[in-house]
Amino acid sequence: MDSHLKCPVCGCEHVYPDGALWMCPECAHEWNPAETAAENGEAAVEIRDANGNVLADGDTVTVIKDLKIKGSSMVVKGGTKVKNIRLSDGGDGHDIACKIPGIGAMNLKSGFVRKA
Ligand SMILES: [Zn+2]
Repeated sequence: MDSHLKCPVCGCEHVYPDGALWMCPECAHEWNPAETAAENGEAAVEIRDANGNVLADGDTVTVIKDLKIKGSSMVVKGGTKVKNIRLSDGGDGHDIACKIPGIGAMNLKSGFVRKA
């Protein structure tokens, strides 16, 4: 997973993890990739609801419009409350994983919900 990491100082690709830090054998630089990413503005992407509020794991949201469920005749009605969402990048625009009462586990798009 982390094999693409390079030393941010000298660009050496032979870096290796040492606890929470990464070490560079070329220039002896030590750094924390998570912090480096945050400094570069590459921290976890914020997922926002239809009103622009930042969503978090465990939030309760309300579906703002009827959503047809692909491959079924079921519809998630606008106004449905969804508890305990989990943010997950589905890679297809669906960035919220949740369980909807009466329907089950599914993924939603953050643009179709509003923080309750
Ligand atoms: Zn280096």
